[in-house]
Amino acid sequence: MSAFIENFSTVTYILAAALFILALKWLSNPATARRGNLAGEIGMLAAIIGTLIGHHVVRYEWIVIGLVVGALIGAPMAIWMPMTAVPQRTALSHACGALAAALVGTAHYYLFFKPIPHPPTTATMIFLCLEILLGSLTFTGSLMAFGKLQDLLPTRPTVYRGQNVLNFAILGLAVLCAVAVIIQPGWTWLFPCMLFLAATFGVLLILPIGGADMPTVIALLNSYAGLSASMMGFVLDNRLLIIAGALDGASGLILSIIMCKAMNRSFTNVLFGAFGQVSASQGAAEKKNVRSGSAEEAAQIMESAQSVIVIPGYGMAVAQAQHKVRELYDQLSKRGVDVKFAIHPVAGRMPGHMNVLLAEAEIPYDRLIEMDEINGDFPQCDVALVVGANDVVNPAARHDRSSPIFGMPILDADKARTVMAIKRTMNPGFAGIENELYFAENCMMLFGDAKAVIASVARELAENN
Ligand code: NAP
Repeated sequence: MSAFIENFSTVTYILAAALFILALKWLSNPATARRGNLAGEIGMLAAIIGTLIGHHVVRYEWIVIGLVVGALIGAPMAIWMPMTAVPQRTALSHACGALAAALVGTAHYYLFFKPIPHPPTTATMIFLCLEILLGSLTFTGSLMAFGKLQDLLPTRPTVYRGQNVLNFAILGLAVLCAVAVIIQPGWTWLFPCMLFLAATFGVLLILPIGGADMPTVIALLNSYAGLSASMMGFVLDNRLLIIAGALDGASGLILSIIMCKAMNRSFTNVLFGAFGQVSASQGAAEKKNVRSGSAEEAAQIMESAQSVIVIPGYGMAVAQAQHKVRELYDQLSKRGVDVKFAIHPVAGRMPGHMNVLLAEAEIPYDRLIEMDEINGDFPQCDVALVVGANDVVNPAARHDRSSPIFGMPILDADKARTVMAIKRTMNPGFAGIENELYFAENCMMLFGDAKAVIASVARELAENN
């Protein structure tokens, strides 16, 4: 019987690992993303069943309590949290995962001494300390990221003299404590010191990071949480946890590298550059005029256009305008206008945000074109329709060395013959900086909620049909 249980557990682990890998592969393409999600869910279920059966659990009451409490918190979060709040929800999930790893590691450490002392090996202590260091700093760092994204904490970077020196000193002390505990596992008083220092470092690490760099940091924290879980796998001798944690760690790291490339930023710059600060020159910005237009004018221009490139951004998500955008797409396509969608890798508030929304509105995938591919089309394009995007179309990123977003690749909307920008006010976007595109001669502002404006333009087009 026990051989059967062992084999069953091994098979479920192999199945789960394969499903996790397939999930990552499928999730990387909008056309297969739903399948990827399902594969990940089934993989996780297989992992839980395999672990519960394979570890000869005799008492289930604590597991059931944990399951019920977790479900009571998680299910409402998944059902009622708006799509725009997914980044902060993700940060919260990382915080929970990292806290779990840190707690399991702590419990495991103290069990080496009570009730029956059995000293750990050096290798176990190395993995355990890495688990605690990564778990604690990810826990507090993710909570900070959550606070910033939820506007509970200031999104602007908090910087002060000697910040990096202090941060490195705290991290160095935490690592020193870890080394001492590895050499002398019996120095139990040092263990909470290491935990506390790592947790403090997590807070200090996120303080100087501004809003615009949050996507990269969330991906990085994802990677840390995964690595912490992987270390926990070594401590608990659970191979699936090692594999799943390593996949999480590697994919988080790859994602943060992709995001850094998309924003033309280096890792060190993201972590220590205090990006997102409002530039000093901004307060002194001179008064400039913008040209404001109506839905009727917009419809007339689009009607006579041959090509329209729609640039969705965070505002489209806030307004939930994707279905109205689909109506506009249908109206224009019916007239033979070539309509494409330009996707910036950090548009919105999470990787793939725009792809998800446009897929929900059933806009064909082949109409969604990535930034590098579509930028060459703007000079021949009649209308660039900016729907609630701001930072990702700010030309200052190309030429203004004093701008905090200088160097970030942008969508070249300003090169289109006519630009139409939909937003409610002249307020800045996430990076907190003014957008010179709105003052350009070829730009017409369509002020209002994105859903209402697009609906009016689509209605005008339908009526003129
Ligand atoms: P953005 O720069 O944040 O600008 C969004 C614009 O949408 C704002 O200017 C806002 O102007 C407008 N808006 C808001 N609600 C609206 C509504 N109901 N109707 C119409 N317009 C509305 O957005 P983005 O161009 O998509 O750039 C994304 C930014 O977020 C980047 O700085 C990126 O680094 C950062 N970020 C990205 C991620 C990610 O993973 N994608 C995660 C976190 C942060 P009004 O208020 O005047 O309407």
